[in-house]
Amino acid sequence: MQNERQVREEIVRIATRCYDRGLLVAGDGNISVRVGPNRLIATPSGVSKGWMTPEMMVVVDLEGRPLEKTSLKVSSEWPMHRVIYEARPDIHAVVHAHPPHATAFAVAGLSLDKAILSEVVLTLGCVPLASYGTPSTSELTEAIEPFLEFHDALLMANHGAVAYAETLEKAFNKLETLEHTCRISFLARTLGNENIIPGRAIEKLFDIREKSGMMRPEARTGQACGIGGQPLADSDRISLTRAELVELLMQATEVLGEVSRRA
Ligand code: 13P
Ligand code: ZN
Repeated sequence: MQNERQVREEIVRIATRCYDRGLLVAGDGNISVRVGPNRLIATPSGVSKGWMTPEMMVVVDLEGRPLEKTSLKVSSEWPMHRVIYEARPDIHAVVHAHPPHATAFAVAGLSLDKAILSEVVLTLGCVPLASYGTPSTSELTEAIEPFLEFHDALLMANHGAVAYAETLEKAFNKLETLEHTCRISFLARTLGNENIIPGRAIEKLFDIREKSGMMRPEARTGQACGIGGQPLADSDRISLTRAELVELLMQATEVLGEVSRRA
């Protein structure tokens, strides 16, 4: 178990890594860690997150009230951090940034809802796009709230991304994976083809994910978008890639073969 000094140092280290990897620039982004039932350590508002020191971290309660004397204000996005901690008792760290490829998805109105990489199906599942809400307001918290139970990372329309986990390192890894996957998806689309993993193979990945405890079994059906879950809206209209269509036809052929064997 880390002491609070070590938590402050780790937040600075992860924020610097986000900055060095271009996941945020200037005053973008914020990070927090839950260190007690009603005690959290968070980045201050409005400073460059690439140039912070451990002393600059702000200690607050869940309401965002300072618990230690400081001249700095807690992140303006505290309501977003708070709603995540309240919805998910298992979560102990939140990382919000504006990673360029993930944010481009959020600007283009795209969620990360296709199973394109097996590792990502295992570790992240799908990443839905929450509708636009003014930063730091209840509009934003209301937009993300419906997705919190079954997703560990979210895209926020015309804004950025947020990831959360039981440790800060894991939350950062999820954010980094999200950005990397959006980049790969973008490159594949630019090359003209984004093939997806066939449905039966995804089921196998879900089995591994559940057995290894990487994700709660409810995520299989609870996730809002594409991978194994229900489409968010417009559910009567479907679109299929070539690979999905081939998979569907193969399944139909198998069923028809079985029926004619029995007849
Ligand atoms: P803060 O500096 O207040 O944390 O805000 C940064 C940000 O990304 C707002 O969405
Ligand atoms: Zn932001």
